[in-house]
Amino acid sequence: MAKDWRLEINRILFMLLAGGLLGFLFGNVPLFLFLALLVYVVFSVLQLRKLDRWLGEIKEGAQAPPPESYGFWGQLFDAVYRLHRDGIKAREDVQHILARAQKSVAALDFGIILIDRKNALEWWNTKAEALLGIRFPVDRGQNAYNLIRDPRFTSYFSRQDYTEPLIVNAPVNNNIILEFNITRFGENEKLMIVRDVTQVQKLEMMRKDFVGNVSHELRTPITVISGYLETLLENNQILEPRWKKALEQMHQQSLRMENILRDLLILSRLETRAISLDQKPVNVSGLLKEIKGDTLNIFEDKDHSISVECDDNLMLTGDRGELYSAISNLSINAAKYTPAGGRIVLRGRRTATGVEVCVEDNGIGIAAHHIPRLTERFYRVDVSRSSSTGGTGLGLAIVKHILARHGATLHIESEPGSGSRFCCRFSNRSLSDAA
Ligand code: ADP
Repeated sequence: MAKDWRLEINRILFMLLAGGLLGFLFGNVPLFLFLALLVYVVFSVLQLRKLDRWLGEIKEGAQAPPPESYGFWGQLFDAVYRLHRDGIKAREDVQHILARAQKSVAALDFGIILIDRKNALEWWNTKAEALLGIRFPVDRGQNAYNLIRDPRFTSYFSRQDYTEPLIVNAPVNNNIILEFNITRFGENEKLMIVRDVTQVQKLEMMRKDFVGNVSHELRTPITVISGYLETLLENNQILEPRWKKALEQMHQQSLRMENILRDLLILSRLETRAISLDQKPVNVSGLLKEIKGDTLNIFEDKDHSISVECDDNLMLTGDRGELYSAISNLSINAAKYTPAGGRIVLRGRRTATGVEVCVEDNGIGIAAHHIPRLTERFYRVDVSRSSSTGGTGLGLAIVKHILARHGATLHIESEPGSGSRFCCRFSNRSLSDAA
């Protein structure tokens, strides 16, 4: 364009020169200079008019070629035309990408819903329509709270924390089980993902039922076997000495198997039974004192010193039996994994966010890399030691389940050789204080 500008300036200078020469010949230089400029201005205005008309046609959507012109104006028209064509191409490309993205999102096997910051439904794919019974565009702008009329959905949606998914029955068909995941983006807008997890839930239920049934069915035979073995060992005068050791080992293993089946049954019940709705206030200090007594009874020979540090008025709302089971599991572990004469503290206290119940010992401790895996089923730090202390590897899995049912979490701190602290943190909603 710089070259065109130079040509254009040359053209103006040439016209002025021609006007000046003619003016000189006719004896009126200013008039001819003025006429020369007038010609140039009229020509430029005509070109601008052409440009304006053409731009108007383009704006209307016509595919009109640029007007005919030459010199600087011709170049300008061509440049505008090229820009226009590039713009159309870029728009077509973006539209193409958008269409593909929309098609692929529509084809996804899970529902996607965009929710604006006022909680109104903004956009969703076809799978979301099938799963939730919403229709486009009729339901556009509907409040997200109306998606599913289930109190669990309402409380989940209004929550600020979406780390855990929500599982509820589909509004269109009660036999379909849906999993909701919410992610925030932009200015408090939400992206909701809905999956049909009916099959997975069915399989999970079958697994739970299977473990529960097998544990239940095996319990009676094992009890009979260990009962007879016990009787045989009690009457050891009639036993041949070479059988004694074998029978003792059989008895020990059958007792271990009984313990495993008992813990598996507890876990299976915790998994399949809904938490009782009539949870009652539980006095924490009373609970800890009872657990202290029971632990001392079981580990009489270890001569541990167990103390309870808890305000007498501290209360928790929950299932007392389950809370007893969880905290006594921790207390029994503390006694098990602390050498004789150890110090164990059962502590209950209020915190800024709720109530914390901790079991602290000065026992063998646990290496840091084991800690994240301790609540997995059958996970044991030292299999031989755990088996010799009658451990099943299921105790902490039971604790975790019970705490989850009470909206609480387990926090473990430990140092090998120094001791461990297992803390159950109950949030404010699972707590009431009698004080
Ligand atoms: P187990 O029945 O084997 O005790 P748990 O699930 O109760 O199973 O505990 C898992 C493992 O965590 C145990 O095998 C043990 O190694 C370790 N553990 C639990 N509590 C303590 C503790 N207070 N001190 C040291 N190790 C512990």
